[in-house]
Amino acid sequence: MSISISGIGISHGIAIGAVYRLEQGDVEVYEAAIPKDLVEDEISRFRRSVRTARQQLKVIRNSIPETTPADITDFIDTHLLMLEDSMLTAAPVELIRQRQCNAEWALKIQRDALAKVFDEMDDPYLRTRKDDVDHVVMRIMRILIGKETHTDPQDNTRLRGAIVLAHDLTPAETALLQHQGIAGFVTESGGPLAHTAILARSLGLPAIVGTHITPHQIRDGDTVILDAVQGALLADVDSATLREYRRLQRQQQKHRTELNRLKDQPAVTGDGTRIHLVANVELREDVLAARRAGAEGIGLYRTEFLFMNRSDIPDEEEQLRQYLSVVKTLKGLPITIRTLDLGSDKKSSAEPASEHVSANPALGLRAIRLCLKHTDLFRPQLRAILRASAKGPVHMMIPMLSSAHELDEVMALIDDVKQELHRERLAFDWNIPIGGMIEVPAAALSATLFARKLDFLSIGTNDLIQYTLAIDRVDDEVTYLYDPLHPAVLRLIKMVIDAGKQYDAPVAMCGEMAGDTRYTRLLLGMGLTDFSVHPTALLEIKDVIHHCRIADVTGIANNILEQDDPVKIIEQLDVLNKM
Ligand code: PEP
Ligand code: MG
Repeated sequence: MSISISGIGISHGIAIGAVYRLEQGDVEVYEAAIPKDLVEDEISRFRRSVRTARQQLKVIRNSIPETTPADITDFIDTHLLMLEDSMLTAAPVELIRQRQCNAEWALKIQRDALAKVFDEMDDPYLRTRKDDVDHVVMRIMRILIGKETHTDPQDNTRLRGAIVLAHDLTPAETALLQHQGIAGFVTESGGPLAHTAILARSLGLPAIVGTHITPHQIRDGDTVILDAVQGALLADVDSATLREYRRLQRQQQKHRTELNRLKDQPAVTGDGTRIHLVANVELREDVLAARRAGAEGIGLYRTEFLFMNRSDIPDEEEQLRQYLSVVKTLKGLPITIRTLDLGSDKKSSAEPASEHVSANPALGLRAIRLCLKHTDLFRPQLRAILRASAKGPVHMMIPMLSSAHELDEVMALIDDVKQELHRERLAFDWNIPIGGMIEVPAAALSATLFARKLDFLSIGTNDLIQYTLAIDRVDDEVTYLYDPLHPAVLRLIKMVIDAGKQYDAPVAMCGEMAGDTRYTRLLLGMGLTDFSVHPTALLEIKDVIHHCRIADVTGIANNILEQDDPVKIIEQLDVLNKM
C-alpha cells in the first residue's frame, strides 16, 4: 500500500529518486554534576567544541563552489557569526561555573532560554531565526557527545539524484547537498520562512518541510516521489502512479526549458506592444532570482524587510550600503525602492513605541502615515535612497497615499532632504523619479490628482482589494471574499490606468494580481503595459504576453468592465483566456 506524507511545499517541482536518510541521531541530554576542581576542564571541553564547530563550518564554507551566490554563503557566515556571539559561547561557560554542571546541560539551558525569547516575538521572520540558533547549538552538541552529522563533502555517489530525508537541515548542509547533486529534500521540522526554505527556493530545489514524521517504512534506497507543489511525499507507489508522475515531471521540465528560452526575449505582445516586465523583491536573494529570470529591473523593493529581521534600526549608512548592493547587482537596470511600509501585519521592532493600541491596524498608522509622523525614522531612509540614486537608476515610491495633503507633505519633506544633502555636498539625483502606490480606494478614485503630481503610479492590488472590499487580507475567515474580479476593483484599476494616460504618468501594477496569469490578458486589454511580479512568476507572465494580441482582448476587457454579474465576468474571462 502506498504511503503519503504531507508537509509544506517550499519550492516548485516534482522530484523522483531514491531515499537517502540523513542520520542525524537523536541527542538526549542529561544534567551531570561536575566536581568543583573539574569545572575549568569542563569549560575547556565546551570551548574546544565551539572551536571545532567553527572549523567544520569553515570547511563547509570552503567546499562550496565559488559560483554559488553570495546569499547562500551568507547563511553559513551567519552561523559562523553566531559561534562568535557571547549568547552561545560565553553564557554556557557562566552556567557551567554557576551550576557546576556538564557542558551539554549548560548549552541546553541556554538554548531553551534563547528559544523562549524567539517564540515570544511577533515577527514571523524573526521567530524562524530560532532555527538558526538550533542548527548551531546542535552542531556544538553533537561534537560534545561525539555524534556528528555526516554530510561529508566528499561522499557524493549515493547522494546524486537522491531525495534526502532528514529531521532538519541547516542552510550550510542544504547548500552542500545541492552541490552533491540531490534531487530534493524533505524535513520533519522547519517552516516556509526559515533560511533553509528561502535557500531551497532560490536554488530551485524541490523540497517539503514540516512533515513532523517520516515513517520508518520508508527505507534508504526506496524510490519516492516528492511533489513540492502539493507538499506531498509518496512512497511505495504502484507503477501507474510512478509513470504518471514521470510524465508530469517531464512536462514540467519541458515547460521550464521553454520558459527559460524567453529569459532574454523582450516582453512584447503578439501584435507588437512593448510591455515593461519587472520584478518585486523583498530579500537580496530575490534580486538574484529576478536577474536569473531576465527581469528588466525591479518595480517594487519592499524595504521594510530590512527593518524586520532584527532588533535594532538600520541607520542611514547601513541602508545606503544595502541599496547600493542591490543597485550594483542590477548592473544598470532600474530599481524602484519603496519607502517603509511598516505597520498593520508588517510588524517591526523599528516601529516607534506607542501606548496606543489600534483596533484596526490596517486602517491605522501604517506606511506613509507612520513615516510622516515619525520623521526621525523616515529622514534617514529618504537620505539613503537619494544617495543611492547617485549610483544608478533609482526611483522612489511612496506606499499607501490617500490624500493631496499627505502627498504635498511627503514632497516637501523630500525637497527638504535634497537641500540638506546638497548643503552637505553629498551626491544624489536631483531628478529622481518619485511615484506613489495606489492602494487605497480614495487614491484610485482621485487618481488624476496623483498622476498630475507624481512621475509614476503603481497599483498595489493586495491592499486595494482589501480596502475596497473591506476584508482583512490576513484574516482566513474572509479570504473567500478576496476577489480581484469584483467589478468595483476592476473599475478602480481602470480609472488609475486611464488617469496615468491622461497625465502621461506611467502606471504599473505590483500587487499579486499582476503576477497571476489568469488576469494577464484582462489587464492588457484594460491598457496596462507595466507589470511588476514575483521573480518566479515572471517568465509565465511573459509567455502569456507573447501569446496575447491587444487588439483581440480590448473589446472583451471593456465588456467585462461593464458587467456587474460575477458569473458573466468569469464566463467572459474564460473566453479571453482561451484566445
Ligand atoms: C500591494 O498592496 O499590492 C503591495 C504590492 O504592497 P504590499 O503587498 O507590500 O502591501
Ligand atoms: Mg500594499
